[in-house]
Amino acid sequence: ELPGDPKTNNTNPREVLHACYTKVSPSVEVENPQLVAWSESVAELLDLDPKEFERPDFPLIFSGASPLVGGLSYAQCYGGHQFGMWAGQLGDGRAITLGELLNSRAERWELQLKGAGKTPYSRFADGLAVLRSSIREFLCSEAMHGLGVPTTRALSLVTTGKYVTRDMFYDGNPKEEPGAVVCRVAQSFLRFGSFQIHASRAKEDLNIVRALADYTIRHHFPHIENINKSDSLSFKTGEESSSGVDLTSNKYAAWAVEVAERTASLVASWQGVGFTHGVLNTDNMSVLGLTIDYGPFGFLDAFDPSYTPNTTDLPGRRYCFGNQPDIGLWNIAQFTSTLSAAHLINTEEANYAMERYGTKFMDDYKSIMTRKLGLSKYNKQLISELLNNMSVDKVDYTNFFRSLSNIKTDSSISEGELLVPLKAVLLDIGKERKEAWTSWVQTYIQELAASGISDEERKVEMNSINPKYILRNYLCQSAIDTAEQGDFEEVRRLLKVMERPYDEQPGMEKYARLPPAWAYRPGVCMLSCSS
Ligand code: AMP
Ligand code: MG
Ligand code: MG
Repeated sequence: ELPGDPKTNNTNPREVLHACYTKVSPSVEVENPQLVAWSESVAELLDLDPKEFERPDFPLIFSGASPLVGGLSYAQCYGGHQFGMWAGQLGDGRAITLGELLNSRAERWELQLKGAGKTPYSRFADGLAVLRSSIREFLCSEAMHGLGVPTTRALSLVTTGKYVTRDMFYDGNPKEEPGAVVCRVAQSFLRFGSFQIHASRAKEDLNIVRALADYTIRHHFPHIENINKSDSLSFKTGEESSSGVDLTSNKYAAWAVEVAERTASLVASWQGVGFTHGVLNTDNMSVLGLTIDYGPFGFLDAFDPSYTPNTTDLPGRRYCFGNQPDIGLWNIAQFTSTLSAAHLINTEEANYAMERYGTKFMDDYKSIMTRKLGLSKYNKQLISELLNNMSVDKVDYTNFFRSLSNIKTDSSISEGELLVPLKAVLLDIGKERKEAWTSWVQTYIQELAASGISDEERKVEMNSINPKYILRNYLCQSAIDTAEQGDFEEVRRLLKVMERPYDEQPGMEKYARLPPAWAYRPGVCMLSCSS
């Protein structure tokens, strides 16, 4: 049993001590709430019939205005490091879990409303969410899933019919915006900060860290649950590591390593698709290795390692694209030090988990970049020269890799023709830079020829890892602009396109276009945490 807060349904902002959660019901006000969009594949996960979405009470239930029968709603207590500083208690300030659903495949899914009203963790804020940020979270959750990146999912998006006041960062004036609620779905929303908060408090709260770790392992890492017992030596990573850490004797150490490795894989997959999370605080790090909390995120347009979509992260750029791998490690270090503080793992085990983060990240990253180039083996120099060229010439990350599969290994192509397949993605490039690119393509073609894969086969392989469609900020903005006028068609269309990002989708090519000039205004390419 995890400790709960005795003050049920009290939403006064407060420190909730010695508890993992508070039972609280949604308190959002609605007026003729509307269903904006829903995800068919998430409905399938939950065994929900498409007809359920036509029910007149659907927007009431999924805005939080009517209760979900059989549910047990609560908000979680967690803390976190924000921008490198311990911030104390944060918690679900505007997320309320409705309950869990066990599907026909015996999978347990948690349904959570974001923006359904205050909780004890709302601090100074209103517990609500605006349509703008809810559209972004809804679409990006499903776009990331389409890309094959681990993520929390989004079942539905409904408007509340009420207005919410927000301080917009670009002119500083408060603005009334339509309110909305996203129903997020995940096997668990537990974060690094869910463990950190208890280790940061009284000594007896270290027992809560252990209880929560036991719960997490039992429900979400069952394959390591029995590791403490001496008869369970069949565990896969049974071989002793070079640093002498034996993962077959301490389930918490095995768990720390698995969290580290899942986080490493997650960050590598972000780097592969050019995703920048924007707010990688430890309260936004899932212990399941999922992308969680879509705020001021952004996909790269032009390749730029210092890219950050988050105005709150300037000028430091702690969470810029190129820093994400290091930040993942920093966050794992906070997580392992929490487990150490609770005496669940020792220093060697903590260090080993961090070491495995590094190894796993590099393994995955190398493999992803090798596949993006359609090569059969990793070529560090070729990749770093390419990324360097891309950043010098501000080449679009997504469209470049998609076009790269048009390169042919045919040796009869003249030097002057080498860049033709890349013409659409190498724009405004001067003579000198053309030489740099030609030389890179020449080396690349030699590598391709040595790999022995046919042009056709390689193209298919490359197109399965280099998306054609990504959720660029300007596409979100177009959908937001029309939705704020009451027209939800563009949100639904974008959802459909982003569910199949690797397919050509004839007729949808406009969704693969580079950002137009208006996309560079604040609020489209740069966002704040205010949402
Ligand atoms: P974030 O930076 O989005 O991870 O949010 C940090 C903390 O602020 C979390 O505890 C959120 O639940 C809380 N929070 C963000 N927006 C709101 C809001 N509108 N109302 C209440 N709490 C919020
Ligand atoms: Mg958050
Ligand atoms: Mg957030």
